[in-house]
Amino acid sequence: MIVVMSPSATQADVTAVRKTIEAHGLEAFVSVGQERTVVGVVGTDIERVANIASLAGVEQVIRVTQPYKLASVEHHRERTRVVAGGVPIGQGSELVAIAGPCSVESREMVLDTARWVRHEGARMLRGGAFKPRTSPYTFQGLGKPALEMLAEARAETGLPVVSEVVDTAELEDMERHVDVLQVGSRNMHNFVLLRAVGRSSRPVLLKRGFGATIEEWLMAAEYVLSSGNSDVILCERGIRTFETATRNTLDLSAVPLLRRHTHLPIAVDPSHGTGQRDLVTPMALAAAAAGADALLIEVHPDPPNARSDGPQSLDFAEFGALMDELRRLQFVRNGAAAGNGTAPASDGAGSEAQPPGAPIRKLRGRIDDLDQRIATLLQERAAVALEVQEVRGLDRHGHDVARERELLEHAARASTGPLEPEELTAIFGAILRASRSAQRRRSEAHMRARHEG
Ligand code: PEP
Ligand code: MN
Repeated sequence: MIVVMSPSATQADVTAVRKTIEAHGLEAFVSVGQERTVVGVVGTDIERVANIASLAGVEQVIRVTQPYKLASVEHHRERTRVVAGGVPIGQGSELVAIAGPCSVESREMVLDTARWVRHEGARMLRGGAFKPRTSPYTFQGLGKPALEMLAEARAETGLPVVSEVVDTAELEDMERHVDVLQVGSRNMHNFVLLRAVGRSSRPVLLKRGFGATIEEWLMAAEYVLSSGNSDVILCERGIRTFETATRNTLDLSAVPLLRRHTHLPIAVDPSHGTGQRDLVTPMALAAAAAGADALLIEVHPDPPNARSDGPQSLDFAEFGALMDELRRLQFVRNGAAAGNGTAPASDGAGSEAQPPGAPIRKLRGRIDDLDQRIATLLQERAAVALEVQEVRGLDRHGHDVARERELLEHAARASTGPLEPEELTAIFGAILRASRSAQRRRSEAHMRARHEG
């Protein structure tokens, strides 16, 4: 800490400051400059002189070390890896997807969801049993029976479970049924709860308070750490700003910033962070790119009929598409189910024998063959499109919009097979765009040649 004296401070003021510092068992280093005097404070319990700013002649007190100690990189250079129910999160581990419903609604829905998210490559299951809702009149969660359903889903799928603890009275029950204790945004400042989970042997997922600064959030982590629990995962979940277009403003800059200040693993929850289903996937990918160690994603079998947070929940297909993207961008390397590193129970989805290699290779050979033919056909199609353009006149503007629309409609209607009409429309849309680009290049070359010639 540095105490900056005002230019008008007297020698007596400086002496009073020095004596106050020393009276608290700290060391004071007085440095007299041309215009003003500064006093450096060194010692382990600097907070004891936090009031020094009110002494006569003091202009400013500048803190040079962080108020959090155990969470800080100053005292812990290596990043921490928390092992949650067997799944490593943080230092040296790949991104972990934690997925599941906002709240557990029934045994079937949580089992269904657990199987699916596991199948798609999630490594942990989330699900609320006790819900801290803004209104006391909305669904508050199924409570204890939900903990048993989560434990059953865990036993079947092997996915460790994350669930929110809202009351110290439930802590023992929670510890028996879940692998990670979530402290929710609304409870980030509940110091009694923070101390209680700090005495637990279960890792803690600490959500950022929606009105909390990063420093306050790290101080909340400090409560848990200083109570004896070193397994804390921070979770950015959006903060309240003047913006009303999204449920919260997801502060992704918090991720690289936290990496600078703390060694603790960092998760991001784009579901609560945005409140809108179609924003979840892009923000999840952005969070991964920003350096998140884990993602917390709400997934529901039937979002429109969810009892809580339906508008921000992904359905199974949407979650699958997100996992595909995470794999494509290599944030996640595990394949679905078989390679995800959790131990499946004997009756679980992962218990089938590995598919035999030879038939798979044969089928993949057929796919390679088809892809080759499709590529050749696409080139052939583009070449004919250029011929059309040649006949029409190279300086006339390209395509026939009505014909293109007809083609798209026809493609969507005509064929039978596993692809949905929208998927076919998307593919033909891409073909038409590529074809137009090729035509445009040809026109440009033609016009340039004419102007030069
Ligand atoms: C939740 O994850 O279920 C939840 C209630 O989140 P938050 O505390 O971030 O609002
Ligand atoms: Mn929710």
